[in-house]
Amino acid sequence: MAWLRSRGVELADIARIVYDLYRPKDPQLTLADCLESVERVVSKREAQFAILTGIALDVLAERGQLPEPLRQAIRQDDPLYGVDEVLALAITNVYGSIGLTNFGYLDKQKLGVIGRLNGKGNGVHTFLDDLVAGIAAAASARLAHQLEDGLLAAAGSG
Ligand code: MG
Repeated sequence: MAWLRSRGVELADIARIVYDLYRPKDPQLTLADCLESVERVVSKREAQFAILTGIALDVLAERGQLPEPLRQAIRQDDPLYGVDEVLALAITNVYGSIGLTNFGYLDKQKLGVIGRLNGKGNGVHTFLDDLVAGIAAAASARLAHQLEDGLLAAAGSG
């Protein structure tokens, strides 16, 4: 959390993306539900290592401390680089194919803080924007699985 915060991202920013993404499917959803889901996702070791790795590479690229051609590829967010998206999938993979679909959507739409990170002139966030999208996608997928479990349980008891 401290690493995310040091790069300008609060868990509440990510919860907001989850809310905007998932509210249409669950009208009872609250921001607090979304924040809880985000917290659960970032409490997983897979997510934490992905976040630490990606942010470290962004910071090293920013400081010019990576060897070429890696430094330029990450600084310029070279579309052919693609490792930033692959790393973020380490987070979404935990929640199955719904996580993957959500991630693809967020990668295109760049909701909320993801769009801000994509803006030029505020540091290197080549990995961070995808990590945030990955966390939001996973947290939404988690809510979808919970909703489904609830419906199945209700159907079973009824
Ligand atoms: Mg990126």
